[in-house]
Amino acid sequence: MQLEAVDVAVVGAGPAGLAAAATAAELGLSVALLDEQAHPGGQIYRDVARAGVERLQVLGDDYAAGRALVERFAQSTARHMGGAAVWQVTRDRVIHYLKDGRSRSSTAGQVILCTGAMERPFPIPGWTLPGVMTAGAAQILLKSAGLAPSQPVVLAGCGPLLYLLAWQYLRAGVRIGAIVDTTQRSDYLRALRHIGGALAGWRDVKKGLGLIRSIKGAGIPFYRGATDLAVEGDDGPRP
Ligand SMILES: Cc1cc2nc3c(=O)[nH]c(=O)nc-3n(C[C@H](O)[C@H](O)[C@H](O)COP(=O)(O)OP(=O)(O)OC[C@H]3O[C@@H](n4cnc5c(N)ncnc54)[C@H](O)[C@@H]3O)c2cc1C
Repeated sequence: MQLEAVDVAVVGAGPAGLAAAATAAELGLSVALLDEQAHPGGQIYRDVARAGVERLQVLGDDYAAGRALVERFAQSTARHMGGAAVWQVTRDRVIHYLKDGRSRSSTAGQVILCTGAMERPFPIPGWTLPGVMTAGAAQILLKSAGLAPSQPVVLAGCGPLLYLLAWQYLRAGVRIGAIVDTTQRSDYLRALRHIGGALAGWRDVKKGLGLIRSIKGAGIPFYRGATDLAVEGDDGPRP
């Protein structure tokens, strides 16, 4: 299906792109929203409109909140073009994208890029072994297919996604053997200069502290300040 020329083309159907597309459409503009994923939601709200009650409960209220945004977008006149991977936008706003194995193009008066974030894990010894995956990949499986490990897992790394995944895994009944946090004491000291911003975003800080409280409350061994992470094992199939 070829896309006709539109006033605004938005690339990326995460929260930013959904809000931009819905707002532009509500203002009377013709809008197309392209995303390489089949369904809107982006990373945080991946597949939220199709998630059943059980998955919504596991993933929590902040995930479920995405439904309202997807609904607002769906009710607007903006057109969703799923499975469309944009590979070039020219200076004169011709958008080239791949859909259904074919390269297509369309023009837009304005282009809004909302292509979001990507996970940037750092390699450690053993990171390609069977059974090792990134927190983002684990969360994608949980959000898009309700898949969670049947055997105990160890979560290693740092940052909010690690705690969020641990919290979601606990709700999904996954057994967590340990959390190995690589945040160093010096990282906290360096972060102190951002204390003003943290206080302004106190809701997120509160949420993060709540996640950590739940993890500790579940009695999961929590190792802080870890360095020299490595995973040992062999390349053979897991039992
Ligand atoms: C794996 C992962 C999981 C995350 N989970 C959470 C979470 O649970 N909670 C949280 O608060 N934050 C999470 N984040 C952080 C998250 O990125 C932001 O909170 C939020 O999703 C950013 O919204 P956004 O609209 O800017 O971009 P995103 O939500 O990242 O959406 C960008 C969209 O652009 C599309 N896209 C990118 N390039 C192209 C292209 N060339 N052509 C077509 N489409 C394209 C992508 O498919 C994606 O759907 C996660 C990040 C990652 C990487």
